[in-house]
Amino acid sequence: MQKYFLSEIFFSVNGEGLQIGIPMVFIRLSGCNLRCKWCDTKDSWVQNDQVSLDDIVREVDKYDTEWVCITGGEPLLQDIKPLIKKLQYKISLETNGTIYDDIIKEIDFVSVDIKTPSSEMKNDFTVLQKVLDNTKYGQLKAVISDENDYLFVKNSLNEIDLKFPLILQPNFFELSYKDLFSLYSKNPVDHEIRILMQLHKIGDLK
Ligand code: SF4
Repeated sequence: MQKYFLSEIFFSVNGEGLQIGIPMVFIRLSGCNLRCKWCDTKDSWVQNDQVSLDDIVREVDKYDTEWVCITGGEPLLQDIKPLIKKLQYKISLETNGTIYDDIIKEIDFVSVDIKTPSSEMKNDFTVLQKVLDNTKYGQLKAVISDENDYLFVKNSLNEIDLKFPLILQPNFFELSYKDLFSLYSKNPVDHEIRILMQLHKIGDLK
């Protein structure tokens, strides 16, 4: 039977990007191939417990939800196809943009990260582009800690063919929303954009 390294399952609202405010069940799979300096889910790096596909679906089915978000860690380290096939919900996926899997084509909404310099991680633009090209609908999300991060994202748009909005999100501990807007207003990005804070943190939700 298919099993997954699982960190937690919980019901909350999506606090980021275009899906902000939508109630959904989050399946946080464990294990990540990156080590972002400001990662706020470090507990999910360790792959401890394996849980069966049936047990995961049973847990999700306890909630009255239209959407399920599969997040991590990095969910595409595991074969999520059987999980997605069995979940009778609209699926949202949060991925760090460093792994390509054909399952992306079947997902309703994909949030793809571009890693800014303050994460101390690197992007692979070839993989990132493939993920974006095969996404039906979604967003590219960047966490901004400072001006260097902002300029990196702005310049990166010259290397990426992006058909979805760009989400700029301030690093909660490093940059205020006001200061992020100031960076944008001085030197705007030439692309459809949303400048958003993490609603679940403001609202004291998980
Ligand atoms: S990709 Fe996401 S889960 Fe992995 S280290 Fe970075 S922020 Fe954390």
